[in-house]
Amino acid sequence: SASPRFSTAAESSFNHRNPSRVPNLIGGAFVDSKSTSTIDVINPATQEVVSQIPLTTNEEFKAAVAAAKQAFPSWRNTPITTRQRIMFKLQELIRRDMDKLAKNITTEQGKTLKDAHGDVFRGLEVVEHSCGMATLKMGEYVPNVASGIDTYSIREPLGVCAGICPFNFPAMIPLWMFPVAVTCGNTFVLKPSEKDPGASIMLAELAMEAGLPPGVLNIVHGTNDIVNAICDDDDIRAISFVGSNTAGMHIYARASAKGKRVQSNMGAKNHGIVMPDANKDATLNALLAAGFGAAGQRCMALSTIVFVGDSESWLNDLVECAKGLKVNAGIEPNADLGPVISKQAKERICRLVQSGVESGAKLLLDGRNIVVPGYEQGNFIGPTILTGVTADMECYKEEIFGPVLVCMKADSLEDALNIVNRNRYGNGASIFTTSGAVARKFQTEVEAGQVGINVPIPVPLPFFSFTGNKSSFAGDLNFYGKAGVNFFTQIKTVTQQWKDLPSGSGVSLAMPTSQ
Ligand code: NAD
Repeated sequence: SASPRFSTAAESSFNHRNPSRVPNLIGGAFVDSKSTSTIDVINPATQEVVSQIPLTTNEEFKAAVAAAKQAFPSWRNTPITTRQRIMFKLQELIRRDMDKLAKNITTEQGKTLKDAHGDVFRGLEVVEHSCGMATLKMGEYVPNVASGIDTYSIREPLGVCAGICPFNFPAMIPLWMFPVAVTCGNTFVLKPSEKDPGASIMLAELAMEAGLPPGVLNIVHGTNDIVNAICDDDDIRAISFVGSNTAGMHIYARASAKGKRVQSNMGAKNHGIVMPDANKDATLNALLAAGFGAAGQRCMALSTIVFVGDSESWLNDLVECAKGLKVNAGIEPNADLGPVISKQAKERICRLVQSGVESGAKLLLDGRNIVVPGYEQGNFIGPTILTGVTADMECYKEEIFGPVLVCMKADSLEDALNIVNRNRYGNGASIFTTSGAVARKFQTEVEAGQVGINVPIPVPLPFFSFTGNKSSFAGDLNFYGKAGVNFFTQIKTVTQQWKDLPSGSGVSLAMPTSQ
């Protein structure tokens, strides 16, 4: 079955309920919450209730934090090589269970199986990267800063850290967070998305099978209340958040006010600039994949296309190609795009498309009324293309987060850059061109943190970091890569003096200087 089996937990009541209840993970045990309030986890292709998450009680939340706090001293003193080896084992186990993980993601989140494999794989790469943590977190050393005195720096773990996840990458985003945090020596409390918690539970099972000791990784389920409890808790030192701006800015403000570190990856409106000299076929393929892949529910989706000059004439071909994409349940082998996450998401997307039409945009392709045979209840939207969109329209200003491309026109590269740079978001932007000079000007002047040159979704691999900017990010240390290691560690500097001190040199109260 695609639902997690919680095999490491003793067979207990939550396994036998129908629908099954997703357990919390506290101090190494998968436990059913005492809470009677639950939220259904719904298969977006069928509306079937896959499982239910509990709204974890405050007492249970405190127990999870206490377990993480208790596990910290011995975990931080566990040799870094041992911690790395657990990640090395974890990457092997994730590969072993890749199909199971992907199937669970398709069931709970809706994306196609192939795309779900990509979701797991992009997270797996962060686990692989964490296997080199000893080198990544090395300190620095300067001998003889004054006569006989040396200074060195050490990167130490913070203590208990927490992660709060969105629905759109149920495996990748938890894996952006806890592998880096725990390999640095921290312990962790993870709050998965209430919409698709299964992959987090399966990954935690694998982490424990790989040898992660009890209490190092804990999982609690819930929504706003538990998030606020995470922000307020005095024992939690840092929070990784990925999701919408509404939640992200709230968490950033509330947790920062408590003195916590926060890294907050948020919403986006990524532009693809099409220059008339671009390779037409390659560009159209890239635009289709980046606009409609995962039904547009990627924070790095290219949701806005800016056609420069004559390239606008490619729109007809874009529409024809988009018509050929297969909308189906993610589990079906021929599916190019699956459903969107919820009925509410579908309504919001359709409303934004309608508002575009009402403010003067032209609907070249309308996927709102699609019916998928066999999955009539699914939250499907077919590829949708709006053209003649202007910067004042709601469908341009809001993140649509669905399979909708909004198309605009610019007379020149300058005009196109102005459009991109006036947008409040700065996650990613891509240009399609065969001119190096144009690409270089774009790279230099564009105000977006992740720039693609003939690459539609320029998400860097984990040796770099995920570098959104402007309203797409709050904080100053990005996810994974060197910045991620810095986020999950604090610096201690040590200044030591080892020399035979001459006696009778007297006392000086002046500020020590080395001259
Ligand atoms: P969301 O903000 O609704 O939910 C994210 C998490 O925050 C969930 O765990 C949820 O329980 C919690 N939450 C939601 N509202 C809250 C509130 N008012 N108070 C406290 N907690 C709250 O986001 P989502 O719909 O799950 O995910 C989609 C969003 O995530 C999109 O905006 C997308 O661009 C963004 N995203 C960004 C990145 C990135 O790296 N920049 C990556 C993936 C997704």
